[in-house]
Amino acid sequence: MPDIYRDNIITVANVGAVPGGDAFLIITDKKTALVDSGFSFCAEEMIQNINSLLEGRSLDYVLLTHSHYDHASGSVYCRSHFKDVKIVASKYASMVFSKPSAIAVMREMNDSAALHYGYPDWEDKLDELEADITVCEGDVIDLEDISLQVIDAPGHTRCSIAFYIPQEKMLIASETSGCIAGEHLVAPCFLVGYEMSIEHIKRLMNMDIEKLLLPHRGVVDGEVCRDFPADALRSSELLKDIIIGDYRMGKTQDEITEHYKSVFFTPEIQRLQPPKAFYLNASYIVPMVIKEVLNKSEPGKIGE
Ligand SMILES: [Zn+2]
Repeated sequence: MPDIYRDNIITVANVGAVPGGDAFLIITDKKTALVDSGFSFCAEEMIQNINSLLEGRSLDYVLLTHSHYDHASGSVYCRSHFKDVKIVASKYASMVFSKPSAIAVMREMNDSAALHYGYPDWEDKLDELEADITVCEGDVIDLEDISLQVIDAPGHTRCSIAFYIPQEKMLIASETSGCIAGEHLVAPCFLVGYEMSIEHIKRLMNMDIEKLLLPHRGVVDGEVCRDFPADALRSSELLKDIIIGDYRMGKTQDEITEHYKSVFFTPEIQRLQPPKAFYLNASYIVPMVIKEVLNKSEPGKIGE
């Protein structure tokens, strides 16, 4: 199965067991790291995929780009299999993991996704979820052949981070820059802040990036990589314009959401996200954009 990228320094393979629960294994001559870790319920299958590629080597790091259940849940299971693995996350993510209420949400979301993918029973280890190393902007994780420079990337969540690998000119992107939804179309994922997401995307435009490891997608280079930041910016502004334009025309939140869905809930996104998850995200994004862009404390009649 795994979708594999290789050059003379690194191998990157998607070892996620089901769509939407993507996890990317990075292998160099010296070290190994997993970028995000998928769901809980299929973590054992992901670990089998990891083991089949590691050929007896151990996993050194799990790098979590943020604390959402589809990215962070599998990390606990890695700890049971790879005794010396270090789980890396932002300080904010590590704080999220210490909250029983946040773990309860992750459990519930895993249960619902487990049902969707046909995994009736799964071993719940989510109470053990924690980061061994907490990082923020400017920190560097040394993998010997390559180094990972931490970039704070709030916007999708407050805890989102990206990693830049200078030796590869590769950015391990966070979901704050969005997910590819089609040709030159990027599904915006700005759940907690529009402007801060735009700021992050603009920052990418000024970086020396030749390869991107995109969430739920894998490594892209060439034209797709070159165009991604501009596509992400244009797509984010398009969604903002749809929301604000419709709001000004007096449309309801449901009508705005359907308009949003007709543009961005493409087959590529439907593969990763059930409609329920799309609507849940939209219920955050639509009022947030109205409030932030129009600087309103009350988003008026929205939701009626
Ligand atoms: Zn997320």
